[in-house]
Amino acid sequence: MSAAHPSGHRSGFMLRCAAVMLLLAVLPALFKGEFALFLGTQIGIYFLVALGLNLLSGYGGQISLGHGALVAIGAYAVAISTVDYQLSFWLALPLALALTAGAGALMALPAFRLSTWYFALVTLGFANVIGGLLTEWRGLTHGFAGVVGVPKPVLFGHALSQNQLYWLILATCLGAFLFVRNLVFSRFGRALLGLHDNSVLVQGVGASLVRLKMQAFVISAALAGLAGAFMAVHKTVITPDDFPADLSTFFLLVIVLGGMGRLYGALVGTLVFFIVPELLAELHDWRLLIYGGALLLLILFAPSGLAGWMETVWKRSFIPPAPDDADVLAAPMHRISGAALEIAAVSKRFGGVVALNEVSLSLQPGAVHAIVGPNGSGKTTLLNLISGYYPLDGGSVQIGGTDIAGLDAVRIARSGVRRTFQTPKLIAELDVLQNVMLGAFSDESAGLVAIGLGLPAARREARERRAEALHYLRFVGLQKRANDPASDIPHGQQRLAEIARALVGRPGLLLLDEPAAGLSLSELDGLSQLVSEIAKLGTTVVIVEHHLELVANLCRSVTVLEGGRVLASGTPEAVFNDEAVMAAYMGKRSVPTSHD
Ligand code: ADP
Ligand code: MG
Repeated sequence: MSAAHPSGHRSGFMLRCAAVMLLLAVLPALFKGEFALFLGTQIGIYFLVALGLNLLSGYGGQISLGHGALVAIGAYAVAISTVDYQLSFWLALPLALALTAGAGALMALPAFRLSTWYFALVTLGFANVIGGLLTEWRGLTHGFAGVVGVPKPVLFGHALSQNQLYWLILATCLGAFLFVRNLVFSRFGRALLGLHDNSVLVQGVGASLVRLKMQAFVISAALAGLAGAFMAVHKTVITPDDFPADLSTFFLLVIVLGGMGRLYGALVGTLVFFIVPELLAELHDWRLLIYGGALLLLILFAPSGLAGWMETVWKRSFIPPAPDDADVLAAPMHRISGAALEIAAVSKRFGGVVALNEVSLSLQPGAVHAIVGPNGSGKTTLLNLISGYYPLDGGSVQIGGTDIAGLDAVRIARSGVRRTFQTPKLIAELDVLQNVMLGAFSDESAGLVAIGLGLPAARREARERRAEALHYLRFVGLQKRANDPASDIPHGQQRLAEIARALVGRPGLLLLDEPAAGLSLSELDGLSQLVSEIAKLGTTVVIVEHHLELVANLCRSVTVLEGGRVLASGTPEAVFNDEAVMAAYMGKRSVPTSHD
């Protein structure tokens, strides 16, 4: 699975968009019938819902079974306020958006506590409540009779014709698509892809999970509300029957068919879902069987949906060129100012297991320090404490003079700490370059709206970040792999990509968890050189490592952990020749040291 990075092909993309829009705009004229116009408008409306749902469920992995209810809220908001309160459509529309965005924020709340499927059930409950209100709250909704006679929007003193409404919806669809596309290829979209399976990594680059989820829900819900608003003026009569209980499931089916987490998934899904049944009108009774069969085939042969399958075919015939040096050299080389690290009598227990017991360690800015010790001695736990993934049970940690007590992983990452993981964590759907760009998440200042609208400042920032990411990719020797899907590169290179991602965040403190594990001998040499190059940048480095030779070559100081305690610490020469250390841990083997 992978998504191509579109930057650099912008003009071609806009040209394609323009061509598609032109085609769609004249479509009703080609078919001439009222029905084609009706169908086209309907497709546009449903596309808006699918687009938002794809952002939330496809990209963010937050399965919602309540989007049908959001559409209903949008539709009823416009219908009631224009019919019963004679509000203009242009005032009713923002009202509908605000209401649905608010409902989306409410829906998001349980998502912070529940696992995916429990949460999906909660959204289903939400949809049922709204469905019940539509029929029971008669004073507001007119019950089963619904709201009749919703007027068409008035523009320049004239009510829009059905044709003009179609064009308005079409233009809105294009705008919404471009907005979502800009988001998807920004730091927001990259982090969103990690929300479901890679939340540890997402926090590690300084992205708040709560904030990300909230943003995804609000945008997604507002798009559903927008669709609802158009539905009201398109149909002119809105009744509870327009929002059957399975409407939400149906939208989910659309994006699964089209391709979850694929840019064109919503578009392909909506088109196929609406046009194919019309072509198969005679087979109406067989519809569910055909859908079910198609879905089954899809899961077997194209698990990433139709859009995913089309992307794969497209990529086989069009391989994007690797970025050239001109791109890379555009980025200035930054010196990083290292942070001091002061660890005092830190302890950590997991139930009955004492993972760390009064561990202390003091590092000057710019130091390169190794942590060694047998498996289970607490090395990874120490990194997890420093980077804020676990709270301390005792002792204190200061980074750059600031006590981290009470700070979570996101805040600590934002203060300039980056790490790699013992098992590399890359986002499989993204290419290597975009994985590296994710490392700069907390450095980017452009907001969601600026990114979505593609404002010049946001675009300039994105270009700068890309150049920087390319720069660090070259630094670790992965430049040629920039456009490869992260899931395609070998294990050793995944570790290097993680290091590049960490460096893009220009960390004052860099934590490397067993970067040499599983590397070949020649890769080991490269890593050794790389770490000494990193040290020259100025950052403070803590490296968990088993290769004693590597440690002796790179580090001026080393701490040996055993059973959560500090067994020894000092220069590699002193520590590795210490009889007690050798006896306890290294099987009395002395290591030649070639430091200096
Ligand atoms: P190392 O990285 O040195 O191999 P770890 O820090 O991963 O060791 O583990 C130290 C000890 O803490 C082990 O006994 C491990 O089982 C335990 N431990 C680590 N993380 C957890 C956790 N999240 N829950 C329970 N026990 C843990
Ligand atoms: Mg470990």
